[in-house]
Amino acid sequence: MSATREEINSYLNELLKPEWFRDYCPNGLQVEGKRTIHRIVSGVTANQAFIDKAIDVEADALLVHHGFFWKGEPQVITGMKRRRLQALIGNNVNLFAYHLPLDAHPVHGNNAELAKRLALIEEQPLEPAAKRSVGSVGRLETPMSAEAFGDKLERVLGFDPLHIGEPERVISTIAWCTGAAQSYLAQAVDFGVDAFLTGEISENTVHTARECGIQFFAAGHHATERYGVQAVGELLSLEFDIEHQFIDVPVPV
Ligand SMILES: [Zn+2]
Repeated sequence: MSATREEINSYLNELLKPEWFRDYCPNGLQVEGKRTIHRIVSGVTANQAFIDKAIDVEADALLVHHGFFWKGEPQVITGMKRRRLQALIGNNVNLFAYHLPLDAHPVHGNNAELAKRLALIEEQPLEPAAKRSVGSVGRLETPMSAEAFGDKLERVLGFDPLHIGEPERVISTIAWCTGAAQSYLAQAVDFGVDAFLTGEISENTVHTARECGIQFFAAGHHATERYGVQAVGELLSLEFDIEHQFIDVPVPV
């Protein structure tokens, strides 16, 4: 079975509502390829290794969280960017990319999918004013020590998390936002939660966490953002009866 590029593009835009976000990149079809799509390959980032593997399995379209054309990057098409684009265009492969809209989808987004895997229950958005918040505030289904929560992260995500705080402290309330959301730590402190979970950490995060007494976990930008594209890829597969596979190119941060 198959779907057209336009059908998939409209379905994704209807689902993910890119117009509700002020993002750092264009969301939707970033690179146009063939019109008819039988096989879609999802992945976290459109890096060269991912593109090559997807072409090896004869993908007609790629669906990623981190695509191209980020605000502030050089506008010329040289070097790494040329090679990536050449592989896509030379093989007539479409690239669909959704950044913040994929983090924030209330059921299939990165935060929602991560919450399902970690048994976190959302009670309110981290960004109350947003139409769709990129982060969540809530609680653990089963309160546990920071050490036990760290072990759980490692088990579920296959990534050894960095914890700033006290291992024996019991966590029952938590805020979370996948990826590089360490700058949201101050908002999490304002919500008065026991812990904040994201992907990355900065030097100043350590001091804020220590001085505000919040348990901070950096569980990997890539590791925390693997699930949204997989969920949406599966939806496309069901909706249009096309093939979908997720290809992971592991990243150590
Ligand atoms: Zn990200």
